[in-house]
Amino acid sequence: MKKPTAGFKIIASLILAFILIAGGQPLLNHRNFKVEIVCGPGVTEIKKLSDFCQSLKGTEADTPVFILEGQQPGGQVLIMANTHANEPEGMISTLIIIENAVVEKGTLYIIPFFNRSARLNTRPGEGYPLYFSITTPWGMKKFPMGNRDASPLDQWPDPDVYIHYPEKQMLSYLDIRNTNRTWPGRKNGLPMEQVTWAAMELLKHKKVDLAIDLHGAETMYPVTNCIVAPEKAMRIATLASLTVKSMEGFENHVEPSPSSFRGLSHREIGDYSDTLPFLLEAPIPFLDQPTGPKTEKLLLDGRDDFLLNLAKKKKLFVPYDESGWSFDRRVGQHLSVSLEILRQYSKKNADKEIVVKNVPRHADLLKNGAGYFFKDPSEAEENKVIKL
Ligand SMILES: [Zn+2]
Repeated sequence: MKKPTAGFKIIASLILAFILIAGGQPLLNHRNFKVEIVCGPGVTEIKKLSDFCQSLKGTEADTPVFILEGQQPGGQVLIMANTHANEPEGMISTLIIIENAVVEKGTLYIIPFFNRSARLNTRPGEGYPLYFSITTPWGMKKFPMGNRDASPLDQWPDPDVYIHYPEKQMLSYLDIRNTNRTWPGRKNGLPMEQVTWAAMELLKHKKVDLAIDLHGAETMYPVTNCIVAPEKAMRIATLASLTVKSMEGFENHVEPSPSSFRGLSHREIGDYSDTLPFLLEAPIPFLDQPTGPKTEKLLLDGRDDFLLNLAKKKKLFVPYDESGWSFDRRVGQHLSVSLEILRQYSKKNADKEIVVKNVPRHADLLKNGAGYFFKDPSEAEENKVIKL
């Protein structure tokens, strides 16, 4: 057999290098992409999670904590999003709060990119969108679409079996990069254990009363369109659920946090601190397995013919029709339910009242769309614009 010539080898190497660079460059651009956020009138300080865990400093797992301290003292609330960065309605909800909220009583701690490494991650080779854009009054605003777990570039290798700390439950190897399996975390653990440990430190140091973790779930998954809460937070969750149904006309039932499934925010925050935890699940058709292509359109309008057929066969856990389950609807649910949790807590704890104004609710989102509530960074004062 004839040996390949030097010329052939050079050309083959160049083609291979071109394929690697052409395939890798969009992933590198995605990892370096920044979204500009305009700090609203309520933002009084910006800290980082590394302020509560030094070892996160300078790593890609470190992430900003926006503090909105009211004029008057009151309750303390943490709201987290992008624990799973492929469930972006939570992230949009927190950014709308950061850009618009006016806090009169109490303090909000907002973490829009809780698992920041997962926001830098994607699913190469799976036809998965790297970004999505929403319409605002001043043009399109682009956001990164992340993945469920932290990037292996930031935490690797995975163990064969992940042994949860401190409960010693054996979990899937992949869950060591999932920040909804690493609570309450470990100071000297792997980076994602440090992220949840830092958040626990924040909860304890700031004596946080309520922690709300914003998620999304498949329509075929039973724990969807709901508030997950442990025993100690169940009363407030139930009142919030009943109130949004009667006052705003949408369902959001309550699910009990299982006591034997470890590592989840709604379980460990409740067990390892004085904070009352809530995890909010909005239905995201994009996450379901039997759908058409995973496009930006499906992410935003939530309409899918396969799911419609399954709904007719009663295989879904939420009502589903031709209108799908839009992004704006999901953001609206997160905002209304979060505000209602704050209101119900305030009613029972007059000395720790939390009064937040100027945050839109479910009906506002359905009427105007999420983009309506974002400010134009080019029109804002330079020192108010943060690149995330
Ligand atoms: Zn999730």
